[in-house]
Amino acid sequence: MEAVMSDLDMFMNYLEARSPGEPEFHQAVREVSEKVLPYIETHPEYARARILERMTEPDRVIMFRVTWEDDEGNVQINRGYRVQFNGAIGPYKGGLRFHPSVNLSILKFLGFEQILKNSLTGLPMGGGKGGSDFDPKGKSDAEVMRFCQSFMSELFRHIGKNVDVPAGDIGVGAREIGYLFGQYRRLKNEFTGTMTGKGLSYGGSLIRPEATGYGNVYFAAEMLKTRGKTLDGKTCLVSGSGNVAQYTTEKLIHLGAKVVTLSDSSGFIYDPDGITREKLDFVMDLKNNRRGRIKEYADKFGCAYYPGEKPWNVPCDLAFPSATQNEITAGDARALLENGCYLVSEGANMPTTYEATKLFEEARILFGPGKAANAGGVAISGLEMTQNSMRLTWTREQVEEKLQEIMQRIHEQCLEYGSTNGYCDYVKGANIAGFVKVADAMLAYGVV
Ligand code: NDP
Repeated sequence: MEAVMSDLDMFMNYLEARSPGEPEFHQAVREVSEKVLPYIETHPEYARARILERMTEPDRVIMFRVTWEDDEGNVQINRGYRVQFNGAIGPYKGGLRFHPSVNLSILKFLGFEQILKNSLTGLPMGGGKGGSDFDPKGKSDAEVMRFCQSFMSELFRHIGKNVDVPAGDIGVGAREIGYLFGQYRRLKNEFTGTMTGKGLSYGGSLIRPEATGYGNVYFAAEMLKTRGKTLDGKTCLVSGSGNVAQYTTEKLIHLGAKVVTLSDSSGFIYDPDGITREKLDFVMDLKNNRRGRIKEYADKFGCAYYPGEKPWNVPCDLAFPSATQNEITAGDARALLENGCYLVSEGANMPTTYEATKLFEEARILFGPGKAANAGGVAISGLEMTQNSMRLTWTREQVEEKLQEIMQRIHEQCLEYGSTNGYCDYVKGANIAGFVKVADAMLAYGVV
């Protein structure tokens, strides 16, 4: 590659040739490059230094074997990963995902998104992501513990409070963080904030469990404000029923909206009366303690359950995809638009396929991309790091106020870089605003 590239197809050909067979990574880079390349054309210093080519190449990728013994004494083998994607503006920061679908493509897409997301928060954090194809579903606590200990026995040598600070993601919640951090502390014989999402008794931050969902709702409220609307009385679809979905639902209820769906990988429930505080408590116990299926909600509260389906055909005002990548296809996007949905705020990472994002853009609805809308989680992880370094704990009110301010600032940045003729392209705004800060740091470092 001799010439400086400015054309999207040319750039994607280059990227796909360098990283073949990684469709999710290609998708994430395409969505960003489409918005950033025209900006780079007007800023030749970035093109000359080949910043986008450099930013799409991870600083390093660590892959390792994780061997552990199940409860029957059988030897099990999984693969562990940590993608340290870009450390230009701070220690690598991003979650660990434990799910059978995990592969390098998915972790590179997540790590790449994380660079720009972390930059948007305004906090000094680089981008990274990791995980394993281990499936915690159906495993005993003892098996999950042995897996986590084995995983950390390799990962610990690559991370550190000033190097790389992992957190949770799909399949990695409070239980897994406890086992992982416990093993880290034991191996290093030191207590540092090298992981976030920790329990409150050992260095965790108040509001961290709530932060991604709450932040997403705050972001949606900011988007609505630009059209003179509020959340009050709006009918909302939420997908997933894990961490992000639960706290999105909690904040939506709190602000007067009506949530009518939740889902898991087996199907979705539709409760036209709306999920109340009491019903949400049932979901939290079901998912976080009993590790059951969302169908039990329908059995308990006598509403409809749709096995094997996603909620996007249900009429709504607002949609909060909070399960996984590519859960809204072009067909789903059409159904949402036809049924009157005018805001989609992504709690999950890249839940909308490329084709579906185009439909939302054409329809000019309020479309908040994950790197902006779900940045509240990593922002509060950043504040957990701050509290750990200062060896103090902020109150719930202090942290929630900071979360709200950060989400407002992210929204302002989107408006600054994404608005033309009264319409805000939040995808463009988030991508360019996130890119500029990292790009400027990379320029300052020279050729490294
Ligand atoms: P959880 O593991 O707590 O919950 C995930 C939920 O999504 C579960 O209901 C799960 O159902 C469902 N799900 C997972 N994979 C699939 C799939 N392939 N098809 C259908 N449903 C699926 O994860 P989180 O809530 O933490 O994460 C959800 C999303 O939010 C992810 O995209 C994550 O990257 C993103 N995110 C999370 C942050 C956080 O702070 N936790 C921060 C920013 C983004 P089942 O139990 O049946 O698998």
